[in-house]
Amino acid sequence: MKSLLVTNPGSRCGDKGIEEIEARLQRWGELVRVNPEQPEDLPEAILEHGKQVDQIILGGGDGTVNLALDALLEVDRPLGLLPMGTANDLARSLNIPDDLEQALNIVLRGHQRRIDIAFANDVSFINAIGMGLGPQMTREMDSETKAQFGVVAYLVGIVRAFHKQRGFAAQVDGGSCRFDGRFLQITVANGIHYGGGMTVAEDAKIDDGLLDVLLVPEQSRLALLASALRFRLGQTRDADNLVHRRCKALRIETDPPLAITADGEFLAETPVECKVRRHALAVYTPE
Ligand SMILES: [Mg+2]
Repeated sequence: MKSLLVTNPGSRCGDKGIEEIEARLQRWGELVRVNPEQPEDLPEAILEHGKQVDQIILGGGDGTVNLALDALLEVDRPLGLLPMGTANDLARSLNIPDDLEQALNIVLRGHQRRIDIAFANDVSFINAIGMGLGPQMTREMDSETKAQFGVVAYLVGIVRAFHKQRGFAAQVDGGSCRFDGRFLQITVANGIHYGGGMTVAEDAKIDDGLLDVLLVPEQSRLALLASALRFRLGQTRDADNLVHRRCKALRIETDPPLAITADGEFLAETPVECKVRRHALAVYTPE
């Protein structure tokens, strides 16, 4: 078994514990080790070495996975994930522990699962895209603040974002899921967790070929605060001021046009067409 171990030099944990991982992988089989100088060089490193190995082990967080995603789809090798980022929502969606040794154990045990990959205007994403309050919060907070994204910081963030980003008009067309109204936030999720610890819906799945759409209709600040924690936890059932639907594809138009974050990065803007490719990527996960 030949492995490619790629780490993101920009990841938060840096090299902490990675030598240990490297040594274990060398004892276990053949290892190609790549640590590009710039995070932007990750895709090329994967494209260059990925086809010659049996599996790719990626050290980093959601930002790293998003950077590497197109290259990973291209080389089509099972992915082992070592959560080393500021936000590790994908790892959480897959029940992969933050501890690197334990995460590596999961890779070595070899149980694979195929998960979905989603696209927003042909830009791939794995956790979620957001428009409205979420991106506004991203603008206001540096990554350090996001790393300590406690409940209080979250509530303060949402109130601050609310000052600058009021409602917008949107038309959502996802077949049976159709809305025309004013919203504060729209999230379209492929996975379960996103945004550094948010949950789109408690029963969301990353392999059902469906996108979870979560709409926050325009409402008062007080009502928003009242629903903010349910929004964070994905407790959408019986929530008056949250709308949750599932669909295979959808189109969203907004007035005014809005910036969209995909997996926390600003990568697109409305109008946006979202679709999902079912079971596009094999990942090592706990059984
Ligand atoms: Mg899904």
